[in-house]
Amino acid sequence: MRFSQAFIPTQKQIPADAEVPSHQLMLRTGMIRLHLSGVYSFLPLGWRVLRKVAQIIREEMEQIGAQEFLLPTLSRKDIWEKTGRWQQAGDLMFRLKDRRGADLCLPPTHEEIFTSIAAGEIRSYRELPQIWYQIQTKFRDEPRPRSGVLRGRQFLMKDSYSFDTDQEGLERSYQLHRRAYLRIFRRCELETFTVSASSGIMGGSESEEFMISSPAGEDEVVLCRDCDYAANLEVATAGEQQSDSPSPSAQSQAEKVFTPEKKTIEAVSEFLELSPSRLMKSLLFISERGPVMALISGEDQLDEAKLNRELKCEFRPATPEEALELTGAHLGFIGPVGLKKEVMIIADLSLKDQDDLLTGANQDDFHLKGLEPGRDFRVEKYAQLRMVQSGDPCPCCGAALEISPAIEIGHIFKLGTKYSQALEATYLDPQGEQHPIVMGSYGIGLERIVASVIEQHSDKDGIVWPISIAPYQIHLLPINPAHQETKELSEQLYQGLLGKGLEVLIDDRELRAGTKFKDADLIGIPLRATIGEKGLNQGKVEIRFRKSGKVIKVDKAVALAKIEEIVREMEKTVQSSEN
Ligand code: ATP
Ligand code: MG
Repeated sequence: MRFSQAFIPTQKQIPADAEVPSHQLMLRTGMIRLHLSGVYSFLPLGWRVLRKVAQIIREEMEQIGAQEFLLPTLSRKDIWEKTGRWQQAGDLMFRLKDRRGADLCLPPTHEEIFTSIAAGEIRSYRELPQIWYQIQTKFRDEPRPRSGVLRGRQFLMKDSYSFDTDQEGLERSYQLHRRAYLRIFRRCELETFTVSASSGIMGGSESEEFMISSPAGEDEVVLCRDCDYAANLEVATAGEQQSDSPSPSAQSQAEKVFTPEKKTIEAVSEFLELSPSRLMKSLLFISERGPVMALISGEDQLDEAKLNRELKCEFRPATPEEALELTGAHLGFIGPVGLKKEVMIIADLSLKDQDDLLTGANQDDFHLKGLEPGRDFRVEKYAQLRMVQSGDPCPCCGAALEISPAIEIGHIFKLGTKYSQALEATYLDPQGEQHPIVMGSYGIGLERIVASVIEQHSDKDGIVWPISIAPYQIHLLPINPAHQETKELSEQLYQGLLGKGLEVLIDDRELRAGTKFKDADLIGIPLRATIGEKGLNQGKVEIRFRKSGKVIKVDKAVALAKIEEIVREMEKTVQSSEN
């Protein structure tokens, strides 16, 4: 490509509305432009990179026997109703009506459509296993689209689905994906780690996320530095600490205290000059199994995923009216003692064996202090309900846990039979008995890979592309294209390299050399060959590696062969590190 004819609208200035480095650099290199909040156009340079990522994904998916489909991005409603996700997806799902008034949606993911194809076509165990995939646009009306393409409302996902006869087959398909994902990320030179994760809206039993560590990340991961424990904060558990500071007074007695209008942990702890660790949060929920009060220490946060695991059903916070009816008090003054109605009480493990705790008295403007669980109120169940905090002990080895931000780039799920049962995707076994197909689902975000690579591979001057997904492999930079010998040699190199099947950008613009060098560093093509009068007088061409900054000077006569050799070598290094 000739830069003079290319559409690569680079920008010197850091865009004011972009915070994370990848977002800034994708704008500055002219890879993307904003169309509407969370929706971007990919311009030629960005699209080249995205296509390369897609190609790597395709190769690795084909390698594990997956077959490519292309499903619609407009979907009918009934299949989503059958799985319950028409409701469950809520505002995340873009919905529309056709001219006849039929409800349609733009799928945020494609379990329903793939499963409905399996339901319509697969009859026998002989047709299984299958792995199906596509690279297709997803639509999600994210509450906070941000960080450029890292969290868009429209994005490309490679999503695949495995169909097996049993759990063992699912395990095999899952492990195939796991290895394929690791190869994909390695080929993109992404340093990733995996964490156990929550299945969220997908349902199913087990799932893992592939993460990169990054301050731009919106996920928080809990890591143990001493052992392999790693989990998304959403599902992380801590080892239970033996409380080393016994409660202040062993003979505490329940006693009502006047706390006018003090409704929050902060307000009560300040008013009574008590540490939040002596306070207990009483949180009231309405679940499918009835009202539930969750008790946690005043210094902890409730982890709703953990409460969900204990209750095994849906729940929501009680409204002020419901709270009044169940407890006799307004929110802020509720507690487990003297409830008006039957409420299930479930307490965080850290509250077990504590006494002298303080919480709402179920009477407005009053709290109760000196409380001891089990003595002053009954607890149906103790479980870990609190969110892990940094410094908590690791559940595996007891060492201190760390919490750090990360970007999720891939997610693999063992779905089981949730979708196949809902959509009647079944097969007949050799005895002629019918069973639901056992499924897995696996996603990778393509724009997230591109942005994550930039997060991991950039410096103050710009992007530093790995050769595997660089928009071009070689950047030819004739310093003064009007100079005859410069022009001849650079043209010769350009044509010669293209002839070898290499991807070349030649900056044939008649601009100041400084501007061209700046653009070259910004765009970040891995190899730059500079052709200038000074070098040519000594018969040399200068080759510079974007990553290391290393420069080598080669004879102009062998420049073509040398550049090709270096590119092939760089490509080989990525390929051979795969196995
Ligand atoms: P997140 O927790 O970041 O919202 P998710 O867990 O909802 O993501 P999945 O349903 O697991 O996402 O989707 C699979 C992959 O699709 C993710 O690992 C990520 O790479 C990509 N992805 C998901 N949401 C977005 C988005 N809004 N913008 C860009 N990529 C996304
Ligand atoms: Mg996910």
